[in-house]
Amino acid sequence: MTSTVDIGLDYAKARDDADELARFRHEFDLPRHTGREAGHYLCGHSLGLMPRQARTLVARELDRWATLGVEGHFDTGDGWFAFHERFAAPLARILGADSREVVAMNSLTVNLHLMLASFYAPAGDRRRILIEQEAFPSDRYAVQSQLAFHGFDPHEDLIQLQARSGRLSADALDAALATQPGRVALVLLPGVQYLTGEAVDMQACASVARRHGCRVGFDLAHAIGNLELDLRASDPDFAVWCSYKYLNGGPGAIGGCFVNQRCLGDTKLPRLEGWWGHDKQGRFEPKTDFIPIDSAEAWQLSNPPILAMAPLEAALGLFGAAGLKPLRNKSIALTAYLESLLTALCGDQIELLTPPDPSARGAQLSVKLRRGAERTAAVVNRLRAAGVVVDWRSPDILRLAPVPLYNNFVDVHAAATALAAALRA
Ligand SMILES: *Cc1c(COP(=O)(O)O)cnc(C)c1O
Repeated sequence: MTSTVDIGLDYAKARDDADELARFRHEFDLPRHTGREAGHYLCGHSLGLMPRQARTLVARELDRWATLGVEGHFDTGDGWFAFHERFAAPLARILGADSREVVAMNSLTVNLHLMLASFYAPAGDRRRILIEQEAFPSDRYAVQSQLAFHGFDPHEDLIQLQARSGRLSADALDAALATQPGRVALVLLPGVQYLTGEAVDMQACASVARRHGCRVGFDLAHAIGNLELDLRASDPDFAVWCSYKYLNGGPGAIGGCFVNQRCLGDTKLPRLEGWWGHDKQGRFEPKTDFIPIDSAEAWQLSNPPILAMAPLEAALGLFGAAGLKPLRNKSIALTAYLESLLTALCGDQIELLTPPDPSARGAQLSVKLRRGAERTAAVVNRLRAAGVVVDWRSPDILRLAPVPLYNNFVDVHAAATALAAALRA
């Protein structure tokens, strides 16, 4: 494989010329802070780039506010009262869910707490929560504080799944749950592991968790907008995500929740509630009991931040226009190209932490530098000087994500050749 990759720039340019999604790059502002005309930005797993239309959409809401004041809530057709509703259908398509199961609201960790309030229902011995050993810190803090909130031990009652030879498999989950018979109430796993870029077999894991009598939720921070998801098939109780990574919703963008439709009408399910989750007809009536909207919207608490939400419309529109399948196909091609260039140009100096199987990863490749902890800062600086933006996880892991909406083969070529040069320097 190494010997067959064409490492020339012309090859990358030819691939770009043949790319039917190439025009979507022009829908984004490409960062220029590296001093180059337009940098090679491979950091969309951390913060997606700005769709150019975002400016217009935010300005539209500012204008509405300026000209209508409070009447903006009920502006004909698309006022703020129903503003969040426009996101449910496009998000549902991206998630493989039903629109009723999806709501855009809050941010990821807030949503995780709201979902745990409903789905973490400790009873008797069944009170433990299983997460992965390398869970993102915020997820761990959320889960541990929920354990403590319920009066349990945030260390003893937290079960940590060790990835076997770096992989989060359904078999490993099965084995871990078998050591805790009847003790685990809830399993929380990522769709894509943030550090390694591994895509988890969500359907197999959810099925194992259910077989062990556990509730199951997914954190889709690195999966949404990256993989072709099918939540109907994987059938978790809930899922949460943020929208500023692959969805390109903007820094701190509005996140979201999926609540499985089989749970929507469950009147025994506890829930933290607020007026935005109440029946829309009676929202402004002062003294009624809470009547939940019969969708995931019932979990909404407050009227949402319209200005922070507006850019998401631009971002989701681009997913609709490009199509999920073509995006995923391009993503697989870009990532394979990155892998083959890295292997050919600096394979002896790096170790790839991401699975080689395209179905077991999304856009991101995680690269561990051999003999490298002390030189990583210098490598990252050399990459920046070459206009290449990647992400660095201390001490020696680089994460590179060629994002199919705005990255191209030339970006990948620039990143791989710059990394090889930086490692030789
Ligand atoms: C990015 C990310 C978060 C971020 O949480 P916020 O609440 O949006 O700040 C949380 N969990 C995971 C796994 C992430 O990748």
